[in-house]
Amino acid sequence: RQRACVEARRKLSSIRNTDAITGDGTPIELLANIELPQDAANVLESGAVGVGLFRSEFLFLGRDSLPSEDEQFAAYREVAEATNGAPVTVRTMDLGADKNPRWLNHGAAENPALGLTGVRLCLAEPLMFRAQLRALLRATVYGKIRILFPMINGLGELKQALAQLEYAKKELREENIPFADKVEVGAMIEIPSAALVVGSFVKYVDFLSIGTNDLIQYTLAVDRNDDSVSHLYDPVHPAVLKLISHTIKTATKAGVQVSVCGEMAGDERLTRLLLGMGLRRFSMHPANLLAVKQNVLNSHLDTLAPQVARILRSEDPDRIADLLTQLNAGPDA
Ligand code: PEP
Ligand code: MG
Repeated sequence: RQRACVEARRKLSSIRNTDAITGDGTPIELLANIELPQDAANVLESGAVGVGLFRSEFLFLGRDSLPSEDEQFAAYREVAEATNGAPVTVRTMDLGADKNPRWLNHGAAENPALGLTGVRLCLAEPLMFRAQLRALLRATVYGKIRILFPMINGLGELKQALAQLEYAKKELREENIPFADKVEVGAMIEIPSAALVVGSFVKYVDFLSIGTNDLIQYTLAVDRNDDSVSHLYDPVHPAVLKLISHTIKTATKAGVQVSVCGEMAGDERLTRLLLGMGLRRFSMHPANLLAVKQNVLNSHLDTLAPQVARILRSEDPDRIADLLTQLNAGPDA
């Protein structure tokens, strides 16, 4: 089995420089998820066309104090320069819940996954948030940095985050510190409420990114880190699929870019399903990229569409499992 694995990996490496285009000619963007600035050096080498998710909170973990604006700026600049002008989507710090830095003293929450996490923490600590936004804006001079807000639960929070960004821009202008004229901004869709009201987001953002890891957790009320309920953590639960499909359709109709950056994007068993739902941008751990690319090359959107429509109409997990098996075993597989 080990030999077969090595052989499969060797074969995949031959498509590293092949463009990700479906069998019937639709280009697909495959992007990388990274956690530290050093990871950026391997992004283009992995076959990705940019960074779809830089989990910036890792800059804030494993240390005793908050990194300064300048320190953050140096890190974002490093990523922007390492990717040679390719897009780099930096998610603002997504702390709280399972990621608690030593310097953050907000006390123990009874229910941390529903507590002061992600953008909620940032809005509660505006100085900390603005230092990050200022650092990100300053780095836009060195590459195509895009800013992504995590854990948005509705339009109210999105507007507040955007207002903080505008405030940071105003401060920089007043201080004559340069940043790019146009900085793309996006929201993560990882809370069911956000998926349901995504139509209200589209005129405020340039792009959306579906965080399926949390979307599954919050839709199914299953702790993503609790082994005792891991059998209930089901990426193809019909309720999860409906939320993903609704988000992709709404964004596409409005002409807003949409990607998936949760683990589902890097799961080769789900590539065809997501393609059939209309997804054209996948962001994943670089190690999964070539296997997903292989599936893209072997897929015909015309053939997938009716099969995926059937999956989306079903609410029976057994039938969904059967249809998914058929989809992956289809003529192009
Ligand atoms: C997600 O929730 O799918 C996601 C990409 O964010 P994280 O896994 O970092 O919570
Ligand atoms: Mg998340």
